[in-house]
Amino acid sequence: MGKKNSKLDPSLVKELTQKTYFTEKELQQWHKGFLKDCPNGTLNEEEFQKIYKQFFPFGDPSKFASFVFKVFDENKDGTIEFREFIYALSVTSRGSLEEKLEWAFRLYDLDQDGYITRDEMISIVTAIYEMVGPQHLETCMGNMVKLPEEENTPEKRVDRIFALMDKNGDGRLSMEEFQEGSKSDPSIVQALSLYDGLV
Ligand code: CA
Ligand code: CA
Ligand code: CA
Repeated sequence: MGKKNSKLDPSLVKELTQKTYFTEKELQQWHKGFLKDCPNGTLNEEEFQKIYKQFFPFGDPSKFASFVFKVFDENKDGTIEFREFIYALSVTSRGSLEEKLEWAFRLYDLDQDGYITRDEMISIVTAIYEMVGPQHLETCMGNMVKLPEEENTPEKRVDRIFALMDKNGDGRLSMEEFQEGSKSDPSIVQALSLYDGLV
C-alpha cells in the first residue's frame, strides 16, 4: 500500500509545477512530509484537526479546522489528497493578496451562495476565537496589544467588519466588498497562513 503512493506521479508533478507556486524539489519534500503524516496518501478531517491542535495548544481549533478542511477538499469526497493539499497550500502561503482573499471568501461563504452573511462570518470568527484561546488572540493577530473593547466578542468584531465592508448595506458581503474591505483589515488574511512553518 505505502509503496504505491511513495512516488509522485510525473504528470501530477508537471501539473502542480505549472499551476502552483512550488518547484519540483519543494513538491517532493512536501510529498515526503505528507506521506509521513498520512501514510495512506490522504488526510481526513480528524487528522486535519490534529495538525491545527499542534499550532493552537491553548484553544480548541476543531471547528475552524473543519471549516478550512471543507475548502481544501475541493472534490468534496471527505478527504484531502496531496493535489488538493498543495493547491490550497500554494494559495494560502504564496498566493497574491487577491488569490488569498478569494480563498478566504470561500472559507467564509459557508453555503457557497456567493455572499457572506453576518451569521456565516460570526461562525468563522467564533471558531477563530475558540481556536486561539482568549489570552492568546492578540499574539495570533500579529500585534501584542490587548484586543480593544469593541472587538472582544465575535459579534462585536463582525459588526465592525460589516460596518467597514458592507458598502451597500444589504446585510451581506459580495466578493467585491470583501476584497476591498480586507485590504484595509489584513488580519482576515493573516489568520489563514498557518502552514508557513511546516516545511
Ligand atoms: Ca478530496
Ligand atoms: Ca453564503
Ligand atoms: Ca453588501
